[in-house]
Amino acid sequence: MHQGRFFKQKFWLPMGSPLSPVVANIVWERVERSALEQLHQEGIVPIFFRRYVDDCLSSVRREQMERMLEVFNSFHPRLQFTIELEEDGQIRFLDTIVRREEDHLTTEWTPKDSEGRYLDYNSSSPFNHKKNSAIALVDRALKLSEVYYRSNALEVVKQILTNNNYPGSFCNKIIKERAHKLYNTLEPKNTDVTMKFVSAPYIPGLGEKIARYLSQHNIKLAFKTIDKIKDTVHSKLKVRIEKDRRTNVVYEIPCGVCTDKKYIGQTSQFLKKRLEQHKNDIKNKSVGSTGLAHHTINEGHLFDFKNAKILDEVPRTDTRLIVEMFQIKIKGESNTFNLQRDSIKFRSAYNGLIEKLKSTVRPKKVPTEI
Ligand SMILES: [Zn+2]
Repeated sequence: MHQGRFFKQKFWLPMGSPLSPVVANIVWERVERSALEQLHQEGIVPIFFRRYVDDCLSSVRREQMERMLEVFNSFHPRLQFTIELEEDGQIRFLDTIVRREEDHLTTEWTPKDSEGRYLDYNSSSPFNHKKNSAIALVDRALKLSEVYYRSNALEVVKQILTNNNYPGSFCNKIIKERAHKLYNTLEPKNTDVTMKFVSAPYIPGLGEKIARYLSQHNIKLAFKTIDKIKDTVHSKLKVRIEKDRRTNVVYEIPCGVCTDKKYIGQTSQFLKKRLEQHKNDIKNKSVGSTGLAHHTINEGHLFDFKNAKILDEVPRTDTRLIVEMFQIKIKGESNTFNLQRDSIKFRSAYNGLIEKLKSTVRPKKVPTEI
């Protein structure tokens, strides 16, 4: 959607959509199967064929190469391959150099972008995430390199990590640990079935403490980091859906007369439609329909529908009802016009939490700007 108009994507897949890589792979799988079948029928059988999305590595007789390319390119005019030939018995494939050595192939991991930006050691991400990105690099270097290329590959890893501010001692420790784990141990994978997993947003300093505490109780805490790129880039690319056309929301409507008193509601429909229903309830003098109708009909106060605010967007109805109750409880019964039944299912176990939430200054997250 651009400037309020919808555009249909005619070719290729949208960048950044979670569906794109899956769909791409389905398509390339089909291309691969149909091309290899066709070649097989013509008596062209590659010695091996490997594919990663649209990057393929294969070995065929030199005189069969042209035909192979032709067959692959005949699948669809928009799906065109080009050929790259080995040079001095070696060829680059993804992040490796594949070499022909006597009767077998060897690989050496050499990333194209060894200056690459990785998760910076000084960033405020959880330590675990940093450790894991270092482990991922070391593992790739070790697993994708033939034994005699490994020390070279590990030098590249150290360089990348140093560029991203990882201390040398930390890099060496990870390398030692991983090499030991991958090649010197037969220890079985951790199959502790009693372990439970939970996830929570990461707060520097506090996160580790909570994780340590939970681990004593066999609960593994995984941190979610706030997806900054998505938040800063994508949300600006997308056109904000205007308030009226949003669904699955928890909202508040202020009374036009009582200061600071609100009605809290939730709906799966368009907010606009729900607001219309509120107005109809008043028109039909349906006192028992909602706390809002009750207040207007009994007190004669009109609600300020124009200043209705979306407090949260929750797709699941059961969760949305809980969020609604939390909002009522946090604001307090005396500051809301909700009927008792709106929050009757609220568990008293949360009362302590509500008191804490009330006493702390509420962060300026939500309300979504309208
Ligand atoms: Zn009022």
